[in-house]
Amino acid sequence: MPSRVAAVAKVIVCSSTNSSSRPGTAVPSRPVATQPQARKLHIPTQITLKSSPQTAAPAAYRAVSLSLSSLLHRSLYISHPRRYHHSTKMDAALAKLFVSNAQWVKAVNTTESGFFEQSAKGQSPKILWLGCSDSRVPESVVTASRPGDIFVHRNIANQVHPDDDSVLSVLTYAVAVVGVEHILVVGHTNCGGAAACYKAVTADTPPPEPTTPLARWLAPLTALAGKLDLKDIPESEALTKIVEASVRAQVENVAATGPVKDAWAGGKKNLWVHGIVYELETGTLRDLGITRGHPAA
Ligand SMILES: [Zn+2]
Repeated sequence: MPSRVAAVAKVIVCSSTNSSSRPGTAVPSRPVATQPQARKLHIPTQITLKSSPQTAAPAAYRAVSLSLSSLLHRSLYISHPRRYHHSTKMDAALAKLFVSNAQWVKAVNTTESGFFEQSAKGQSPKILWLGCSDSRVPESVVTASRPGDIFVHRNIANQVHPDDDSVLSVLTYAVAVVGVEHILVVGHTNCGGAAACYKAVTADTPPPEPTTPLARWLAPLTALAGKLDLKDIPESEALTKIVEASVRAQVENVAATGPVKDAWAGGKKNLWVHGIVYELETGTLRDLGITRGHPAA
């Protein structure tokens, strides 16, 4: 693999090897207890977490609640006193996030003193990840990356619409300000967005006019799926075919955006656009080998 793609290769290699970094250690956050205003707040002597009165708290919830008091005094009440004071609907899933965050902050401060102070000074990631919103493809976790390693934009089915200001603003900032060198369009197997398009184009009736935000968002992908030969192949195979075709199309879409074209026209040779598929079944990244770059690179 050429040395110029070392950064993106690192992302792919980290995904397929048994890294010592633990999933969950890559979630960026701020140690709320160190915020100046937190020290001025009154901390209640007792915090009671309840589910809604009409439902009994499940065992798992009660177990989590018992371990929360000291951590929640700091991470919940201190950071959001008014909102927290009036809420009795903190459930186990949300509480677990705050507890895990507090534990993670403590672990990072123990193993790498000064990490957050350094992180707060700025960022210079070499990777921009354009991925799906799917919870099973968290870019920092599957690549064993750390806060500051990857600039990110995710949406349903990792689409790059030419008129989408959200993705265009991310591309602009990532290329012109942050200085990323590798833009990764990352689809994944068993994508729900691709599945919706598959159902739409294989139904007995033609796809209806999109009338919802989700249908409008997926309309270009539905149109693309409608052009593929999906007959006589299993649905799982058809989905992968749609996902790969979509990644190829989004790579071309990225290459055609103003921020990328302007960068190449301005002589920036160290900027590439890659097409990748994440395999949910194995946890590995697969490079489709369709990288686009500066003509002279
Ligand atoms: Zn997806």
